[in-house]
Amino acid sequence: MARNIGSRYTAHQILGRGSAGTVWAGEGPDGPVAIKLLREDLAADQELVGRFVQERTALLGLDHPRIVSVRDLVVDGNDLALVMDLVRGTDLRSRLDRERRLAPEAAVAITADVADALAAAHAAGVVHRDVKPENILLDMAGPLGPAGAHPALLTDFGVAKLIDTPGRTRSNRIIGTPDYLAPEIVEGLPPRAAVDIYALATVLYELLAGFTPFGGGHPGAVLRRHVTETVVPLPGIPDELWRLVVQCLAKAPASRLRASELSARLRELLPLLHGLPPLDVDEPGAEHAPEPYEEDETEPGAEERRRGAVSLVPGAAPADSNRDTHTSMRVPAPDELAGGAHGTARAPRAPGQRRPGSARNRTGQGAAVVRRRRIALSAAGVAVAAALGVGGWFALGGDEAEKPRDSPRSATAEP
Ligand code: ADP
Repeated sequence: MARNIGSRYTAHQILGRGSAGTVWAGEGPDGPVAIKLLREDLAADQELVGRFVQERTALLGLDHPRIVSVRDLVVDGNDLALVMDLVRGTDLRSRLDRERRLAPEAAVAITADVADALAAAHAAGVVHRDVKPENILLDMAGPLGPAGAHPALLTDFGVAKLIDTPGRTRSNRIIGTPDYLAPEIVEGLPPRAAVDIYALATVLYELLAGFTPFGGGHPGAVLRRHVTETVVPLPGIPDELWRLVVQCLAKAPASRLRASELSARLRELLPLLHGLPPLDVDEPGAEHAPEPYEEDETEPGAEERRRGAVSLVPGAAPADSNRDTHTSMRVPAPDELAGGAHGTARAPRAPGQRRPGSARNRTGQGAAVVRRRRIALSAAGVAVAAALGVGGWFALGGDEAEKPRDSPRSATAEP
């Protein structure tokens, strides 16, 4: 059923529903568009509408082939809508749900596209703050790239920040999606460009492995792991690629690559990765006692709570219970972060190395269920973790030490 949005746009068909509203395919004076119609309760929030209008320039200003451009902002009666480029395809989460993991060449090609988008945004002083597979759209109408990868475009610039209620983005609050949050955000430092690099490296890891390096369990546990745990090598991953992942998952933001460097390094690796099949790794299992906040896996509904579907907006029902959504949490105190997990990490294993332990379900699209196990790090793993720099994180202290090299201001910075 067609619906008018302002005087210039018509929405024809629902493309998808997200935490902030519904995305429609529609038509405008210049042709097809995607229209994100914000939820009614958000559109009725005068302060929120004011902030959208205030940030109009930043939202409309990004123009790059790998960025889903916001073309217009419509405030009309009860409607608040973002008019965007229409991407004919799917989001990367849907592809991951379908394929579980991608061939390294395709994973790297997609990540390089997103790194290009970030390079352009960072150069314009914009930090995305919510890089995750849900916000990466695959343009099926675009030319096929390496390993059959469609061009990837980054969407939702600045939206998460704007929608968060006033006061929640101040220093004692965290916004973002737990699995992809850089440790400096958990520690309460202002988000700079390097947080996007950390999130993108997490996405790359997830594309290769089928799971995120620090995800699983209560959102608070996930946040703590970002600060205290070190990523453990994926079996079979080419060394050069692994080194890039590790560098961009560095706890210290200044150690991470810039977006343009990351894109260049990833593209250099493409020929080396040509023809490699997806990695053959099991998700980490659990052979240690459950962490205190973990619930009984057999308890009905425990998994849904554990997947951390914390809504972006207070009172909002999670859009889709099989996806981690944004969180807005208090910054944990140092002793909460220490919490006994320092130095432990979940070690992925090559197939056949299964160990007994508790498993948790991960419900993917089409009700595919993925069993995921967590194990305590072995003594050797602890050595790897130490070598990779857990100690380095704790040695770094103040804001200066954490400052990324490019440190652009956030276009959506607090007033
Ligand atoms: P939210 O950010 O509110 O959670 P999303 O941006 O994830 O919502 O949008 C929901 C769905 O709409 C996504 O699954 C995506 O596939 C689709 N979508 C979003 N933006 C576009 C676009 N510009 N073109 C085509 N489809 C889109």
